[in-house]
Amino acid sequence: MVQSFPSEPAELIEAYVALGSNIGDRELTLRAAIERLAAHCEIVVERVSDIYETDPVGYTDQPAFLNMAAAIRTSLVPDELLDTLLDIEQQLGRVRDIRWGPRTIDLDLLLYNGVTKDTDRLTLPHPRMMERAFVLVPLRDVLTETNQLYAAVKESADTACRNGKEGITRWKTINWHSASAHFGS
Ligand code: ATP
Ligand code: CA
Ligand code: CA
Repeated sequence: MVQSFPSEPAELIEAYVALGSNIGDRELTLRAAIERLAAHCEIVVERVSDIYETDPVGYTDQPAFLNMAAAIRTSLVPDELLDTLLDIEQQLGRVRDIRWGPRTIDLDLLLYNGVTKDTDRLTLPHPRMMERAFVLVPLRDVLTETNQLYAAVKESADTACRNGKEGITRWKTINWHSASAHFGS
């Protein structure tokens, strides 16, 4: 007789996502993106950062951004997770025209469990994350202290906040316990 076993639950891998928006109702769009991540059956949103307002970098003739970061756990492999982020960007009206130009939503995959990867469509860790205060300051809120990048991220984020030159200010404090109910996870 053939015996069937329930399949093993897939292992959940820790990953970190950066979110940014500078067109339309920026906070609503960030919240919608987090809600969509949390609604995905293979993603658990574990922690979200505060929301920071940041001056644009690179292409500076555009409105200020709201930025945040999320710590997630997922059974998706990195390319599937990137596809999910790009899908959510599309659903929320992302249009790509000017490089580093204004956008309703940008979702970057920063870290995926220490994986390094460099293909045409996905580089891990995100290649520009360590030079961007608007990524590192929110990431500091959610990164686990045991992560091998924690000391470097904290050091750079603390320096950026101390010298005040990076044009980044805390815009809204998020209480994750009430936020998780709000975000529906
Ligand atoms: P930057 O990558 O400098 O933050 P950007 O976010 O404005 O710039 P996009 O136009 O959003 O760039 O993305 C261009 C492409 O980058 C995506 O289609 C995706 O294939 C690729 N990409 C490579 N690595 C990553 C990553 N770690 N996270 C998100 N996208 C990535
Ligand atoms: Ca980006
Ligand atoms: Ca991007």
